[in-house]
Amino acid sequence: MMAFITKTHQEEALAALQDLVAIPSVLDESQAKPGQPFGPECLRALEHTLALCESLGLRTFKDPEGYYGYAEVGQGEELFGILCHLDVVPAVGQTGWKTEPFTPVVTDETIIGRGTQDDKGPTIAALYGVKALLDAKVTFNQRVRFIFGTDEENLWRCINRYNEKEEM
Ligand SMILES: [Zn+2]
Repeated sequence: MMAFITKTHQEEALAALQDLVAIPSVLDESQAKPGQPFGPECLRALEHTLALCESLGLRTFKDPEGYYGYAEVGQGEELFGILCHLDVVPAVGQTGWKTEPFTPVVTDETIIGRGTQDDKGPTIAALYGVKALLDAKVTFNQRVRFIFGTDEENLWRCINRYNEKEEM
């Protein structure tokens, strides 16, 4: 896998992660409306990520009720799922932060910001891993589907809904 990942992929992934971390996708049910059950920022993170996936050549689907979305590539009967979530736990008012949680800071060795480890960083890393394989013209003999939840940090309503309605 490493051999497929170029410096460009790394740079693009780093930029994409910063964009995603900048969205404060914390559950806010006081702002919930039809189509955004977990509040506007969770929906924004979902729509932003689906648009990114589309720009990378994946087929996307957004749950009309706004609970989850997915992005898929490849052909075949079987489905290989990559579970991700785009919501984060709150950061505002928390002590211990030396930088702004939703303003990512890139140092030589690390990226500081809410969600860089859980789960936005792993999500973007996996996405650009697949992008690197696509760029290397690797053929997928099964479908690879990124499944994006938006309520993992709270009640898992996103993935419960996915399980009710979508392919496992
Ligand atoms: Zn998590």
